[in-house]
Amino acid sequence: MHADADHLPPADFAASLARIRARLDAALKEAGRRGPVEIVAVSKTQGEARLKEALAAGQRVFGENRVQEAKAKWPALRAEFPDVELRLIGPLQSNKAAEAIALFDVIETIDRPKIARALKDEAQKQARRPRFLIQVNTGAEAQKAGVLPEDADAFIRLCRDELGMEVEGLMCIPPAEEPPAPHFALLARIAARNRLGVLSMGMSGDFEIAAQLGATHIRVGTALFGDRMVKPDTLTVP
Ligand SMILES: *Cc1c(COP(=O)(O)O)cnc(C)c1O
Repeated sequence: MHADADHLPPADFAASLARIRARLDAALKEAGRRGPVEIVAVSKTQGEARLKEALAAGQRVFGENRVQEAKAKWPALRAEFPDVELRLIGPLQSNKAAEAIALFDVIETIDRPKIARALKDEAQKQARRPRFLIQVNTGAEAQKAGVLPEDADAFIRLCRDELGMEVEGLMCIPPAEEPPAPHFALLARIAARNRLGVLSMGMSGDFEIAAQLGATHIRVGTALFGDRMVKPDTLTVP
């Protein structure tokens, strides 16, 4: 199948996962951190063949960024692999709250009262107990989702204490053009002063730094699956 090793896409999920895990362990060791750090396989745009390969390699924790796409891809696979944990890592509109609550175990991207309230109401209605992370816009970028760092404490209080949501931590996506370390450190400080244990930070390009600065979850897509397809792939062609 792979004619030329030099152009081999990293489609061998098990090998990619082993490489990521080795790099993660080395980064943790260098920082004197023990972990554990969960590798969230970001499977957006990847089709069923790739997902099955990941599942066969033992991967169980996946991140998707669109509710509709996840809804099309995951219910059948989850029936087969009930121990899968699905995490929503993309922005959420409140009109998708019901579907998100029905589908995801963890929603990482709550960032405003309206969506928090919608999710809380839906969770009650569906008798589901998802966990939540609050997304923080550490770079205060106009186009990016997330609560501003200076508003984070109050928003955490609202979600956790007033709405009674199970907020377990924080998530961020640093500005693409800046060194990520100060953003990861800021997220860790906000989490620590609010006694939140979960930090979802770090992607294919910067997960080692994130792990050294306290990530409990790294979200890795291309380094595991190879390049993303524009459309979900259909690797069913012989
Ligand atoms: C796509 C995505 C990732 C993974 O990015 P890679 O660079 O492919 O590892 C991580 N987090 C979020 C929120 C994403 O949308």
